[in-house]
Amino acid sequence: MTEPEFIEIINDRENNLKNVSLKIPKNQLTVFTGVSGSGKSSIVFDTIAQEAGRQLNSTYDSFTRLYLPHYQRPDVDEVNNLATAIVIDQKPLGGNVRSTLGTVSDINPLLRILFSRFGEPRYGDASNAFSFNDPAGMCPDCEGVGKTYVLKRDVAVDRQKSLAEGAVQLPGHGVNSFYDEVMKATGLFDVNKPLVDYTADEFETLMNGERDVTVVYKGTTFNTTFEGIERQFYRQNLKTGQGSSDGARKKISKFATMVPCPTCHGTRYRPEVLASKIQGNNIADLLALQLNDLQTTLASFTDERMAGLLAGIQERVQGLVDVGLDYLTLTRETTTLSGGESQRVKTVRYLANSLTGLLYILDEPSTWLHPRDVHRLNTLLQKLRDKGNTVLVVEHDPDVIKVADYVVDVGPRAGIHGGEITFTGSYQALLTSETLTGKYLLQQLPVNAHPRQPQDFITSAPSRLHNLQDAVLRVPAGLFTVVTGVAGSGKSTLVDQVFAADHPEAIRLTQRPIRTNSRANPATYLSVMNEIRKLLATANDVSDSLFSYNSKGACPTCGGKGVLELNLSFMENATVECETCHGGRFDPQVLTYQYQGKNIVEILAMTIEEAATFFAGTKVAPKLKQVLNVGLGYLALGQPLNTISGGEGQRLKIAKELNKRGNLYILDEPTTGLHASDTSNLIEIINRLVDRGNTVIVIEHNLDVIRSADWIIDIGPDGGSKGGEVLYEGPVSGLITAPRSVTAQYL
Ligand code: ADP
Ligand code: ADP
Ligand code: ZN
Ligand code: ZN
Repeated sequence: MTEPEFIEIINDRENNLKNVSLKIPKNQLTVFTGVSGSGKSSIVFDTIAQEAGRQLNSTYDSFTRLYLPHYQRPDVDEVNNLATAIVIDQKPLGGNVRSTLGTVSDINPLLRILFSRFGEPRYGDASNAFSFNDPAGMCPDCEGVGKTYVLKRDVAVDRQKSLAEGAVQLPGHGVNSFYDEVMKATGLFDVNKPLVDYTADEFETLMNGERDVTVVYKGTTFNTTFEGIERQFYRQNLKTGQGSSDGARKKISKFATMVPCPTCHGTRYRPEVLASKIQGNNIADLLALQLNDLQTTLASFTDERMAGLLAGIQERVQGLVDVGLDYLTLTRETTTLSGGESQRVKTVRYLANSLTGLLYILDEPSTWLHPRDVHRLNTLLQKLRDKGNTVLVVEHDPDVIKVADYVVDVGPRAGIHGGEITFTGSYQALLTSETLTGKYLLQQLPVNAHPRQPQDFITSAPSRLHNLQDAVLRVPAGLFTVVTGVAGSGKSTLVDQVFAADHPEAIRLTQRPIRTNSRANPATYLSVMNEIRKLLATANDVSDSLFSYNSKGACPTCGGKGVLELNLSFMENATVECETCHGGRFDPQVLTYQYQGKNIVEILAMTIEEAATFFAGTKVAPKLKQVLNVGLGYLALGQPLNTISGGEGQRLKIAKELNKRGNLYILDEPTTGLHASDTSNLIEIINRLVDRGNTVIVIEHNLDVIRSADWIIDIGPDGGSKGGEVLYEGPVSGLITAPRSVTAQYL
């Protein structure tokens, strides 16, 4: 029997899909296109990935299944010929203080072997001695974390006060506490003297002294030891904060700052490890190099016996360089990598293994990539395919769509106006198809020929943070400015960390998805829910808490969840709709109250567009109007926020921020998740904001956004230490001829 050549979906009704049937070629690269909210994720993630996970799980016995992630059956008649699916998403890699780019890319273990065999003088007898996660290799003071807490003495004590007045601010040290009594019993301190008047010696004793004392506390006599405030703090709180809960860490961070470990200077290693070198470099030196410099240094190692090992290391480094991560160092902690960087590291890890016959699913991998680097991503996707895998990608970037073997366009519009397959076939055929995607691929927005002229500038102080080279951001007030540059050039550092720190009044829109729970919906998110409750309460002369399913109004059967969970032991848990409220979540009695002929459940079922008309003249309407402006009028007021698509979330966030009154806006890659037609809307919204006198700064790679700007600030020329300079400031027409700008070449 030959392997079926297609993944086959029959009658898919997941979310907004209208009985979609579809065949997707196996061992090919298929790109899913269509406006945000059209149904791409419903097919790729909610149907294919979900069903692949479920089918895989069902091959295990019911006991094993209890320990596997739970997959619900999607609302589809059949999905055939699936393979094991691997979803490579943009969730940050996470990890802890011990995971670095070097550890997750498996390059550190190879470097450890290199040094254990060839480092001079030799140290240890195993490669573990070169691991900062092993006692044999780790710096004993920071235990291999490279950082330690330093007590903020001026926060820990109020020097204007005496001990009797409660100078010690740390928790558990209040006046008359056990600690306070022990401190007094030492007889070392004048408890009525303000700490500012202590001699240096007295103060040091208070911080780090030690003395055995006998103290009577609440009628009991204790023999104990007084320990200085700082000394006790370090003993009680692990120097490195590892293993502490988030809450504990937050408490600690009020009283202490993290600094590089003074013993190992942040290298994480013991002195013996650092002493062992190859051609003048120790292992920490190599880990601290940017990957492109690491390649050069490794290439200069001449010992023939190293050749095999070096080739293995170089191959892995090259994998990271190939996806445009040459500006990173192996010491970089994975928790500080951006979503896009994390996604590329994950992809490289999958490429490094030799599995074939899998189904890889990627969610907008071009996010965060400069147009210069998109071809690298394409190569990566093609390599995955050529290893004998089926690759499905949800993408808006024209340069990625271009390399697809097969395109599936979902549309024609979003939500209830979408959910159909509008096109399948080759890229060439897509261009001439009657789809929005085809139309937008053929047209690009023109370079802004009439930019607004700058009058005044809002500036930041020169900075050397991360890779910045005394860079200054000069933003023209009242203009639409786009900050450009390749990944790692320093855009976020300059805009988000330096400039925004000086201008806290700015309204900032980041990439982070809306934080939400199953009870949040557009009505709660846009803060119109309270207003709606009040209108209902006033019209019926009852309490407004009745109209909350988190409160008095909750359905008594399901407690406001709308569903009941069935716990079937040894079988998968299942949820069923609540019979009392039929999923409406409210106490049926609440539904007898109406406002202009509608009860609360009927109101929450309205689309935002309908609601904007229905609530005309109330405080609700203006807040909903912004949502219409971002093209989300089709969402229901009560749709749970954890079910809206990424692009919809992004625009809902924009609408909410636009409701706030500010005059300086910072948007970090707002086109993420947006189709070209959505991007045109976004540009219109920005221009409207600017017309009202606001200053808007956008970090973007999207060429349509760049071309539409009044003013461009280009950072570069390259990533990491080869970037960090402002290369060009001025109207977009001038950027095209800017000599060292990489961005210019792509306009
Ligand atoms: P895309 O990936 O094309 O941006 P999605 O497939 O995520 O779109 O969403 C398609 C439509 O279905 C959107 O309008 C979205 O709000 C809606 N939707 C997604 N999940 C749910 C759900 N669990 N319940 C109701 N509507 C949903
Ligand atoms: P861009 O926004 O242009 O992609 P970034 O400002 O994020 O670039 O990064 C600029 C440089 O600073 C890069 O070399 C990056 O690795 C480094 N960098 C960014 N964030 C951190 C961090 N938290 N710790 C150490 N280095 C960082
Ligand atoms: Zn150390
Ligand atoms: Zn119920």
